[in-house]
Amino acid sequence: MEIVVIGGGVIGLTTALTLQDAGHQVQVWARELSPHTTSDVAAALWYPYLVEPADKVAEWGRIAYEHFRADVAHPERGVRWHEGVLELSPQPLSDAQLPQWRAYADNFRRARPDELPEGYADGYAFDAPVIVMSTYLPYVQQTFQARGGRVEQRAVADVAEAFAAAPVVVNCAGLGARELVPDPAMYPVRGQVVRIRKSAGREHLRTMSADNGPQGLVYVIPRIDDIVLGGVNTANDERLTIDEAQTPSIIERARQFAPALGEIAPDDITQVACGLRPARNGGVRVEADPARPGLLHNYGHGGAGVTLSWGCAAAVVYLAAQLA
Ligand SMILES: Cc1cc2nc3c(=O)[nH]c(=O)nc-3n(C[C@H](O)[C@H](O)[C@H](O)COP(=O)(O)OP(=O)(O)OC[C@H]3O[C@@H](n4cnc5c(N)ncnc54)[C@H](O)[C@@H]3O)c2cc1C
Repeated sequence: MEIVVIGGGVIGLTTALTLQDAGHQVQVWARELSPHTTSDVAAALWYPYLVEPADKVAEWGRIAYEHFRADVAHPERGVRWHEGVLELSPQPLSDAQLPQWRAYADNFRRARPDELPEGYADGYAFDAPVIVMSTYLPYVQQTFQARGGRVEQRAVADVAEAFAAAPVVVNCAGLGARELVPDPAMYPVRGQVVRIRKSAGREHLRTMSADNGPQGLVYVIPRIDDIVLGGVNTANDERLTIDEAQTPSIIERARQFAPALGEIAPDDITQVACGLRPARNGGVRVEADPARPGLLHNYGHGGAGVTLSWGCAAAVVYLAAQLA
């Protein structure tokens, strides 16, 4: 089938490549492409954060987890496997509070007391991929194009424009779905990250995060060439400019959380970036539009678009097969 995918972030590109692999003729239309999408800002640790529904998230996440595992064998794609990623909690966690995806995440276990920073009472550890999006997105896009896929930079005001080009349209517009569908359940959750040099003394830092401890949302994610510090999660804040006051706060909270970071001088900072997570009341939307035959949706991934990407793409291939 001929298919237009609207959106060139991680969701649009993985959906386009997966549909192409399934034998469809696919083109991508996107207002912005890498490095100018929200997906470029992602940290990007595989971790289902700020996203629902839990049962589907666990299954979509499993497919992406395995996909990224296969990517690790190709260093040029920018995916590394991190052992013992720590997710920490200020309160003790009951078994019921442990995530469903623990069933398949490698080496999932409770955190040991000696792994808990001050102010944290519990947590868990697991192995997971971290993806350098500035490397990964161009890799996915180039693979799609090398196999004959077309990528066009254009804004779509109405899905009818895409239906003029193909009988099947997949909406992967992220926050743009708010206007395009339109979908009033969509809302932005602004994030800001600070990238610092991986200088001497910081080589053996652990990947760790927490979202409601003494430092609020905080994470430290060592990547191939740098370390990402976060975070910020402000619902309905639409600013796409750097908040200068947040940068020292992110750094200070990260240092309290992971003292091994040491002093962070201004010239240790390589980049500060911000983006709007495409959150949705009611959770991720992956379904055929009940009112518009041929229109499929894949948007609303909140803080976990990378984590769910290949799983949601597989779900879209299944939906497309129902249309044939
Ligand atoms: C600070 C921060 C840290 C994050 N960390 C992580 C993490 O560690 N792990 C993780 O899994 N996720 C993380 N996320 C979340 C992740 O970035 C998002 O869930 C993901 O990028 C959503 O992908 P997307 O393709 O739906 O959206 P986007 O990347 O925003 O792409 C949307 C695409 O649609 C296009 N578009 C929109 N409207 C139109 C239109 N009308 N016409 C044509 N094109 C249109 C856009 O131009 C763009 O190409 C983080 C996000 C932020 C901000």
